[in-house]
Amino acid sequence: MPRSKIFTTNFDPHEVYPCPVCRVGKISHIPLMEAMGCDFCHEIFTINAEQQQIKMPSRQPPLIWRWNGFSWSEVQLEGVELGWGYGLAAISFVVLPTSLIGMVAYYFPPHPHDIISWLPYTWTILTFLLHLSIIIWLFIEIYQIPISAYVQALNRWRNRQMER
Ligand SMILES: [Zn+2]
Repeated sequence: MPRSKIFTTNFDPHEVYPCPVCRVGKISHIPLMEAMGCDFCHEIFTINAEQQQIKMPSRQPPLIWRWNGFSWSEVQLEGVELGWGYGLAAISFVVLPTSLIGMVAYYFPPHPHDIISWLPYTWTILTFLLHLSIIIWLFIEIYQIPISAYVQALNRWRNRQMER
């Protein structure tokens, strides 16, 4: 069922919103600036009220979130649409080479007495792991700032606890 428009709220820079980076703090308007700041991870976001968007300019390309009336939408790199096509490409990048090598190993099995009879199977597993790790690495590359901001904020919080 589509969400009713009546219950959605427009993004208002003078309201308080959950922080899309750390998901712990609250972001609120910074006086005299077209920006909002988080009270937990101290990230600064510039406001685009027309587009219902906030932008985190502290990395290049900047990360963008759009307010959908309920919550912040999935993070976006400015100028890059990470649609389902990328997900499909990522899955086929892992699945296709693995199944190809796996099929060869299955239909042309080495003689069981061969010394290297384990090789095709190991090769299949290695292909899968290698391709999967490339995808995971790309994923972390895109999302690394939110993760590191969270770790930094956690460390700050821990230091504050230790000072007491
Ligand atoms: Zn935050």
